[in-house]
Amino acid sequence: MQRIPPPTAHPKVTPATPELGRVTRPFNFSAGPATMPLAVLERAAADMRNWHDADGKPSGMGVMEMSHRGKAFGSIIERAEAGLRRLLAIPDAFHILFMQGGGLAQNAIVPLNLCGPASGKPVVDFVLTGTWSHKSWQEAAKYSAPHIAASAQASGFQHFPDPASWQLSAGAQYVHICSNETIHGVEFQTLPDLRALGSNAPLVVDFSSHVASRTVDWSRVGLAFAGAQKNLGPAGLTLVVVRDDLLGTALDICPSAFQFKNIAAHASLFNTPPTFGIYMAGLVFDWLEQQGGIAHIEACNIEKAALLYQTIDASDLYFNPVDPACRSRMNVPFFLREPALEAAFLHGAEQAGLLQLKGHKSVGGLRASIYNAMPLEGVQALVAFMRSFERTRA
Ligand SMILES: *Cc1c(COP(=O)(O)O)cnc(C)c1O
Repeated sequence: MQRIPPPTAHPKVTPATPELGRVTRPFNFSAGPATMPLAVLERAAADMRNWHDADGKPSGMGVMEMSHRGKAFGSIIERAEAGLRRLLAIPDAFHILFMQGGGLAQNAIVPLNLCGPASGKPVVDFVLTGTWSHKSWQEAAKYSAPHIAASAQASGFQHFPDPASWQLSAGAQYVHICSNETIHGVEFQTLPDLRALGSNAPLVVDFSSHVASRTVDWSRVGLAFAGAQKNLGPAGLTLVVVRDDLLGTALDICPSAFQFKNIAAHASLFNTPPTFGIYMAGLVFDWLEQQGGIAHIEACNIEKAALLYQTIDASDLYFNPVDPACRSRMNVPFFLREPALEAAFLHGAEQAGLLQLKGHKSVGGLRASIYNAMPLEGVQALVAFMRSFERTRA
């Protein structure tokens, strides 16, 4: 093995900040890419030039410098996959795929994989509950005959259409939902049971912005996908969890590198996967397990969201228009009854160490994304600021 040169042999590389472990940071409410657990960032910083395995044995390489086919990276990807399977209790009938392209690419990759092999454009059902499911529906028209089974657009996406009212198509190839709408702040509190609604189609779920924040009932799911940058790790990694029986239905035009069957057959190593993102997600999975797993993080998420919504609802200045039955635990849009105060709110928040609270440009207002890595203390600091801003505004 090559001798590992001491750090001084790399004069052009900025050394890791020695006091990193004692650093306190502002609370970051970005919708994505989003805040990560500090312990994960510190571990990655310590591994940056010389990754250590689980026994503390150094490899002499940073993760970005490793072959994706080597033993070291092999252990990283296997650990990440096993960690996620354990955390989310993903049954053996499902493959875990690590891909690239983000959530939006899946809007094409999913129909490319699920709309074959027969020729012609098969019917796919969509439930429109916000911006993201709307985008999925639009993209799918290139590869399928998308049908809107239900839409909350007329209400401004402030509630969910009751599943009993969905107009599901007989023989649909699949049914697409977005289980947490990141921009409108609406979340399915239970996944629909399509069989009970009279459909035999597999359910496809975009769970990008609340993956790993709560348990998943896999008996109701055919495929779920998520861009990593909300709740799992850095941008560039996309997670796909797909049931085995859905691997044989790709269209001929589906690019090989995006074909689920190929990726599954090669354990996500059909081509070079986003290796650093997989490593980071693996550290996040370790962190989640150390926190007490999904049940624990879900309880924390419920507590954080309740505190924030109660503060909004009790206020004369702030409001959230979403039906309380389907409010998101992860993304909390809120508005000022005096919109002219928004700039002052954002400026004051930043001074108070509360970052990236501006709402999405399409809906305006403010938004606090309170993903797994946002501690309760961050939400407590936010509501303390909100109350004091409301008291002193006049
Ligand atoms: C962020 C997001 C996406 C888009 O992800 P990209 O990685 O930017 O393509 C898709 N769906 C949902 C629900 C999201 O929150």
